[in-house]
Amino acid sequence: MDPQAIEQAVTVLRRGGLVAFPTETVYGLGADATNAEAVARVFELKGRPGNNPLIVHVAGIEQAMALVSQWPATAEKLARRFWPGPLTLVLPRNDVIPDIVCAGGPTVAVRCPDHPVARALLEAFGSPLVGPSANKSGGVSSTTAEHVRASFGDRVQVLDGGPSERGIESTVVRIEGARATILRPGVVTHEQLAEVADVEAYEPVQGADGAGPMPSPGMLKKHYAPTTPTRLFDRTQRRAVFDRLETGDKLVVISHGIDADHPALIRMPRDADGYARELYAAMHRADDAGADAILIELPDAEGQVWSAIRDRLRRAAAG
Ligand code: AMP
Ligand code: MG
Repeated sequence: MDPQAIEQAVTVLRRGGLVAFPTETVYGLGADATNAEAVARVFELKGRPGNNPLIVHVAGIEQAMALVSQWPATAEKLARRFWPGPLTLVLPRNDVIPDIVCAGGPTVAVRCPDHPVARALLEAFGSPLVGPSANKSGGVSSTTAEHVRASFGDRVQVLDGGPSERGIESTVVRIEGARATILRPGVVTHEQLAEVADVEAYEPVQGADGAGPMPSPGMLKKHYAPTTPTRLFDRTQRRAVFDRLETGDKLVVISHGIDADHPALIRMPRDADGYARELYAAMHRADDAGADAILIELPDAEGQVWSAIRDRLRRAAAG
């Protein structure tokens, strides 16, 4: 990355402006996390409800510790093992970060991203940045600079760091004293977390539909969703779905399992990491095709990031 582009971005951020930046998970819409007005612009541009808190991106453990009122041993262990990386920690906060970032709640979410451009930006800025996914609220996350431009046009500067390597959002873990709970499944798996600390598995909240108090907005049922109606199918329906394509139904099919070629079939990698990396780009492509519906095969494999992938697919097809 051109150091001049980073410098220019820092100038924009210091003035309270917004800059989209690449991370290893998805592209973030960056703003000075200590500037309430700058953060308000992020909510406005995304159309994000004010009760959905933002993740604060930090350069390292020290910067994270400056934002919290407790840094339990579990936080230290997890941060040492997984930072920089796709793990977000939710902790009791102090008053360094304005209320708007945390949706007025008593906790703050912190993460140290693992991407050379994100790190260079955080280093040069010298202070934490909010960085929700750089797309309209509820829509499909951006994993390329083109996706960001498609959402926001020229309204934000985009630092182009190429396609995001991991492709889906960070794992969010809440830490309360010795207790740690997964609030949102993500790239870091429960098995990986459990090697380092006693972390409770993710429990999807049934019927979380955005009404009433939001325990964690990642739990919103419909999220990461294309605008085209989206439905899921399983491996027993491969033949039937492919037949519908061949009879000319205006569909786009996303599948890692159908072993055939068709212009309206987006074939996905069969390995979990590859699938995650390409998932949102596939959803963007499918959405842009102007079909009547998108049909996505729900992978049934266990382990790795498959459960996080299923979580995103179910949300894409919810509602
Ligand atoms: P996004 O940046 O769009 O990936 O969304 C950030 C997600 O982080 C939210 O949807 C929540 O799931 C989670 N999050 C951020 N801040 C908090 C917090 N203070 N407490 C609980 N979850 C949070
Ligand atoms: Mg998002």
